[in-house]
Amino acid sequence: MIPAEVAMPPITRSAARTPVRECGEPLVPVGAVALGKIITEHQYLLETGRKLIKDIPAELYLRRGAALRLALAVNYMRKADDNYRLVVNTAHRSKEEQLEMQRLVLDKVKNLYPRLGEDKIQKITQRYVFLLPEKDPGLAPHTTGGAVDISLVKGLNRVPVAPPNTPIYAEISRSYYYENPDKITSGQDILYRDNRRLIRAAMIHAGFTVNHQERWHFDFGNRQWAVATGHPAIYGYID
Ligand SMILES: [Zn+2]
Repeated sequence: MIPAEVAMPPITRSAARTPVRECGEPLVPVGAVALGKIITEHQYLLETGRKLIKDIPAELYLRRGAALRLALAVNYMRKADDNYRLVVNTAHRSKEEQLEMQRLVLDKVKNLYPRLGEDKIQKITQRYVFLLPEKDPGLAPHTTGGAVDISLVKGLNRVPVAPPNTPIYAEISRSYYYENPDKITSGQDILYRDNRRLIRAAMIHAGFTVNHQERWHFDFGNRQWAVATGHPAIYGYID
């Protein structure tokens, strides 16, 4: 088990002090909202290649309010082009799933840096995955059912937002990376920037907040969202 006290990012520190007024909304399957316009691609199962955890559902679930807002987001995008479909890669994560992700990333980091001490390994791991605090598992955004990782397809093609094979934890994964004019060196970069703008605009329009570090991650209702918007958090930990 990884200690969760290692240098939390500022938004997480603020979120940890934010109370939740749990609204009690249930989790619903995201595949059932906006049929045909929202598709799922279970990132966890793709990455692990197998079901490491017994009973992990093949369907992805979000709180009802967050799921309905995804429908608003995809409809917003489809005003620009009705071939767009939103792909949900991660939605609700159980405590077990979150812990399993931590173990997987920790192992990867250990393999990458075999000479580093345990302390440094943990610090690097925390950059890659949220370390679940044992006493407050709802602080991990995906355990609330309000956080979602998404991508976009147009027809059958993936909408590009970064060069192929970019490591997901590179600086380029920051949501606003291409808003820095110094980073624009080709027409392709402009395309990445504009595709990211479309995704962000649609998600913000629907009520989600942007995660600055991870261009694919958006929050609604949880404490990270509450810190970013000033609204009370309505989604705590849910099993
Ligand atoms: Zn995420």
